[in-house]
Amino acid sequence: MHDPDEALRSACFAELRRLTSVYVQDVPYRGALERGFPFGAGSVPFLTPYKGIFRAREQRGPAALSINTSIKSPYRDRATADGWVYSYRTGDVNQPDNKALRAAYALQTPIVYFHATAAGYYEPLFPWFVDADDPVEGEVHVTPGKVIDLGNKPIPAQIEDPIERQYAFRETRVRVHQRHFRRLILPPYQTKCTICSLREERLLDAAHIISDADEHGEPVISNGLSLCTIHHRAFDNDLVGISPDYEVHVSRSLLEDEDGPMLDLLKGFHRQPIQLPRRRTWRPDPERLAIRFERFRSAA
Ligand SMILES: [Zn+2]
Repeated sequence: MHDPDEALRSACFAELRRLTSVYVQDVPYRGALERGFPFGAGSVPFLTPYKGIFRAREQRGPAALSINTSIKSPYRDRATADGWVYSYRTGDVNQPDNKALRAAYALQTPIVYFHATAAGYYEPLFPWFVDADDPVEGEVHVTPGKVIDLGNKPIPAQIEDPIERQYAFRETRVRVHQRHFRRLILPPYQTKCTICSLREERLLDAAHIISDADEHGEPVISNGLSLCTIHHRAFDNDLVGISPDYEVHVSRSLLEDEDGPMLDLLKGFHRQPIQLPRRRTWRPDPERLAIRFERFRSAA
């Protein structure tokens, strides 16, 4: 069925593609999403934070443009093998928001799922589709779509193959989790690398000390470290370790390597203390560090 908002949706997706490439990580509401996207003579909002289901006034069709989750309940939405179960707005099944959500199912229009990663930050997932509607339970099922690029015009499409869809969802879920973990870890470290104190948010990651067997890792502050990309990569590859008494250790192979300005970035911190979060409960868990440090030792 033809979607009267096709042009509006592609303008929305185009602006989101631009924003996600500018911000690399999740996108802030302030100064970014709040501006909306250019369409026609003006701009159209992407979402209403905390409201959930959003259909813009500028739309001509009935289907929602986006849905969002609030950070207060970021994992409220139940995951399935290939998507999330998303609840209707409480109240009447036929109130305007629910109507817009259900129309996205009836018309199979692509939507944006703004997944909150912290207060004021969202990971925009698009194009997504509502692929099941359950008015009795008052919930829908949303699943990732894909973009088919025919020359210069990217076209949102559903993923027909269930295995491919599950794979796409799994990847998305890991990414959303990683973004959320990063927003949890960086503030206690005052948005600095715990090893070198680099303070450039775009170059900082949250590293798990112990990564769980599944894609989640345990998402607690004491299982994380704020690291710049170089130190994160070095930590993941056991070129740098952190002892349970919070000291940086550089692998022997690196220490014995030839000098060079870049290498100093690693070697210079050997046996130096890491910068710790002020609050005790935020500090890296020494037991977890001990386990991880063993790995570093045996890798050397
Ligand atoms: Zn660093």
